[in-house]
Amino acid sequence: MPPTNAKLNAFPVFMRVDGEAVAIVGNGEAALAKARLLAQSSAVLRIIADNASSGLLDFIASTGAVRIEAAYEAAHLRDAALVFAASGDEALDRRVAEDARRLSIPVNVVDRPELCDFFTPALVNRAPVAVAIGTEGAGPVLAQMLRGRIDRMLSPSLGRLAALAASFRTAAEKLPKGNRRRRFWSDFFAGAPAKAIEAGELAEAHGAALELLTQDAPVEGHIALVGAGPGAEDLLTLRAHRLLMEADAIVYDALVPEAIVAMGRRDAERLPVGKRKGCHSKSQEEINALLIELGRAGSKVVRLKSGDPLVFGRAGEEMAALRGAGVAYEVVPGVTAAFAAAADFELPLTLRGVTSSMVFTTGHDLKGNSLPDWAKLAISGATVAVYMGRSVAAEVAGRLIEAGLSPDTAVAVVENASLGTRRRFHGTLADLPSLEARADLTGPVMTIIGDAVAGANFERSEPLAAHRCEDTGHEGAASAVAQGVEQ
Ligand code: SAH
Repeated sequence: MPPTNAKLNAFPVFMRVDGEAVAIVGNGEAALAKARLLAQSSAVLRIIADNASSGLLDFIASTGAVRIEAAYEAAHLRDAALVFAASGDEALDRRVAEDARRLSIPVNVVDRPELCDFFTPALVNRAPVAVAIGTEGAGPVLAQMLRGRIDRMLSPSLGRLAALAASFRTAAEKLPKGNRRRRFWSDFFAGAPAKAIEAGELAEAHGAALELLTQDAPVEGHIALVGAGPGAEDLLTLRAHRLLMEADAIVYDALVPEAIVAMGRRDAERLPVGKRKGCHSKSQEEINALLIELGRAGSKVVRLKSGDPLVFGRAGEEMAALRGAGVAYEVVPGVTAAFAAAADFELPLTLRGVTSSMVFTTGHDLKGNSLPDWAKLAISGATVAVYMGRSVAAEVAGRLIEAGLSPDTAVAVVENASLGTRRRFHGTLADLPSLEARADLTGPVMTIIGDAVAGANFERSEPLAAHRCEDTGHEGAASAVAQGVEQ
């Protein structure tokens, strides 16, 4: 994954070139390639070529580009908006670059990123819409590959739709700002006008857009309770991704990575409600009230929760509050932490002939003397996934052993499942208490207990027993052991 603070050394902008001169110096293939790219714009091409190849001559003849048939001199660059040095002759290209710089004209030198003021992108053209892909000169092949992929994603009629949108901009500005206006545009680009354009029915598209403009039903709010998955951005579902891109507001918990929140619409309101360092966390009642308030104001809200929203996510309370307030909602499932941890460990949660049931628990219900049902299931062979189990690891292990589960039962522990920073540990129920004292585990931790764990792949895991502390009451000793192993 790229570091999230990676900075672009070249910042993409779209430059106005309509009617402006763009000078290209060169006779051959490189000059022709730049000329073809620039011919997608309405700039006036000025090609300085004293000995043009036949391909370049054909291009000039068919596009009406201006040709200067003379040995290059600085005066040829005069009044150009951009300059391309594409002669392939290093000394000449350098001279062109120096001249351009002296005239304060940005210059691009083919195959010499160090001499370039700007880079040319790989371009997906649906004028007036353009997607420009840049790699700062590092990977033209990569840029072309991405171009191919993006090109396939975008409808060929996108440009026509954008042109129609431009013709509606003034009318749309008369709509009240905020949700109403935003809804007009999202219906415009995803609803009837877009479909009509796709079918080539321009008049119909125009009519459909007019209809959207005059619709005056109040904007209905909607809350999507969305699972963000265990942390890896590409474990988000496509539906979650779409809803994020449409959301007016994103309300998210502490375990949801910023990178996933950042996939939301750029101007969406982003409301953190979970405990993060230096951040106030809201009570469940406050969160319920916030969702209702946003819904009543007509917002499309994504309520992002880590993993699956219906697994230890307090979604039950939020759904009840929304139902009570008459605010519409839906639930979008996500990959829960137990599944991500099992995948990281190649651990079969059900295993033919060994176990056919599975328990999701927190271990926080092990109070008093009576064993909860899940503990009985564990004893009868179910695979147990313990959420939020680090602080109660000793209690869980002790009570299960006391109740009759073998101390040798296999245990797998994953910190930061699905992320590059993941750590895997394996051991037995007898080793599990050591988890509590480990100060080196700072991320979320999933514990999986049961005979099926024996089917996992232990090649990339560390033994839990390395941290086994016989005296669980003595935290100092345990963390000294932990540190000893770490260093
Ligand atoms: N709704 C979430 C669970 C929220 S409870 C889900 O379905 O996954 C929070 C607990 O989930 C954490 O204490 C930890 O036990 C577990 N968890 C969440 N993300 C995790 C991850 N990436 N790796 C390991 N455990 C994780």
